[in-house]
Amino acid sequence: MVGGEPFAKEGFDVNLSPLDTGFILTVGSEKGEKLMSGADDLVAEVQQNHTDERERSRNSVTEAINRQNAEFAVDVAYDKQDLDGSADAWAYVTQNCVACGACNRTCPTCTCFLLVDQRAKGGYERTRNWDTCLSIGYARTGGGGNSRPDLPQRLDNRIRCKYEYSRDRYGLVTCTGCGRCIDVCMGRIDMREAVKHIVTEKAKA
Ligand code: SF4
Ligand code: SF4
Repeated sequence: MVGGEPFAKEGFDVNLSPLDTGFILTVGSEKGEKLMSGADDLVAEVQQNHTDERERSRNSVTEAINRQNAEFAVDVAYDKQDLDGSADAWAYVTQNCVACGACNRTCPTCTCFLLVDQRAKGGYERTRNWDTCLSIGYARTGGGGNSRPDLPQRLDNRIRCKYEYSRDRYGLVTCTGCGRCIDVCMGRIDMREAVKHIVTEKAKA
């Protein structure tokens, strides 16, 4: 659904692909080259049977993921505007959310933080705490305002952050498709179902 693959092709220093008998080690950056320089006695040349095994493994994992996600495919040309769902559609996908924030805490791409100033021994200290956009305090401001007082507005923000805002900022969808938020959610909210619901309801409107 997010157009990714279960293995890295770029953006790494050193990549390890597991095989039955060891790993294929691929260097992907100058940093990786530096790290591996002088380690010649620890590695052997990769043989064709090794790369064949890696391809078989990658294909089998990719096929399994595609099978698992087939039911969540959306039958409209997905575009970020498709997330402009109605309040009802967002309320529907949020109905079991208890605002625990576990989805944020476990997400490898959630980075929001909150600065807290407090008294400390001999003065004051400022600490940076990991924040969660599902919490009611997330958008609260000093004067008591809150631009996202309702939970559906906050889940809307979380999903758009991954699929819309990040595309505007970085040209990337920042949901990696890892599924961690689905595993930990006590409300059984599935990012794939939520996006599918919003996008298909929008297409019907
Ligand atoms: S883990 Fe589930 S219940 Fe908890 S805040 Fe996230 S969506 Fe809501
Ligand atoms: S599936 Fe996407 S939103 Fe959920 S934890 Fe992984 S990267 Fe984050």
